[in-house]
Amino acid sequence: MHLGVDVGGTKTEICLLSSTAVASLAFRERMHTEREKSLSEFFSRLRKLLKQSLASSSISFSEIKTIGVGLPGAIDPINEVMLQGSVPFFKNQNLKELFARELALDGKPFKGEIKFDNDANCFALAEAYLGAGKKWAEENKVPLNQLCMVGVTFGTGVGGGLIVNGKMIRGRRGGAGEIGHITLVEAGRPCYCGKQGCAEQYLSGPAFEHFFNHHTEALHPLSGKDIFILAEKNDPFAISAIESYRDRLVHFLSNLSNLLDPHVIVLGGGMSTQPRLYEGISKLLSEACFLTQEPPAVIRNELGGSAGVIGAALLPEGIFKAHES
Ligand SMILES: [Zn+2]
Repeated sequence: MHLGVDVGGTKTEICLLSSTAVASLAFRERMHTEREKSLSEFFSRLRKLLKQSLASSSISFSEIKTIGVGLPGAIDPINEVMLQGSVPFFKNQNLKELFARELALDGKPFKGEIKFDNDANCFALAEAYLGAGKKWAEENKVPLNQLCMVGVTFGTGVGGGLIVNGKMIRGRRGGAGEIGHITLVEAGRPCYCGKQGCAEQYLSGPAFEHFFNHHTEALHPLSGKDIFILAEKNDPFAISAIESYRDRLVHFLSNLSNLLDPHVIVLGGGMSTQPRLYEGISKLLSEACFLTQEPPAVIRNELGGSAGVIGAALLPEGIFKAHES
């Protein structure tokens, strides 16, 4: 059994995958992260959730062989320290020691393999090996060990994971794939990272909502979902907000395409659920890319909200390798 933990800025999820059929989920549960509280409080709630989940699935803690953890930040792959991220109490901690000690339900530190990675990397890993990337590769007869894929999440923020020839690209300090902070608009909106015009400031869910609500001076701000519903009713402001978002999205994806020339770009997060965004995107992308023929396929994820936690469970080397061929 392989435990996956996905720590998000607002919620934390756990899942257990069986070792023989990785796609088979024994359980998937979630809790609020409560990042304003302390680390010990976080782990005390996480242990409780794990205990309850194991008990309800009749699985004992000793059956867990590996633990994979996704975190909302850049994780140094050598030292396994979170260098930057949105849950402050994990920053600069020795993650391996911490999780081995704090997740032990039997009182002894966990002895099995524990791996850590950025949450968007976990999303990309799960989609490449068990989700939309895998499906696309099978349909197009591309072996998984040759697959080049970018996974992009458009949620509260914008994150990315880069898979080249079936392998995750983590970079020197785990900072590869921080594509939400690529400059999309010169001297544009200020970003919390200190720069201006970052992709995240235009392509995240809140950015899309802000654009619409600001331009229409809405008395009651609408959610992203409501704006897409309005567009279906031919509301010109909603249609224009979506078209403007899609133009920026195409610009952004063409930059990624020019950098990596992937087979496929898999979209995740709340914005990715809107079919309207995919309309005509292939043609627009081919016009925007340097290589105008056969632009990368832009497709929606297959695993939905489970991708992050499943990808976390896949992180330990053994499981990952088992799915490479
Ligand atoms: Zn930024």
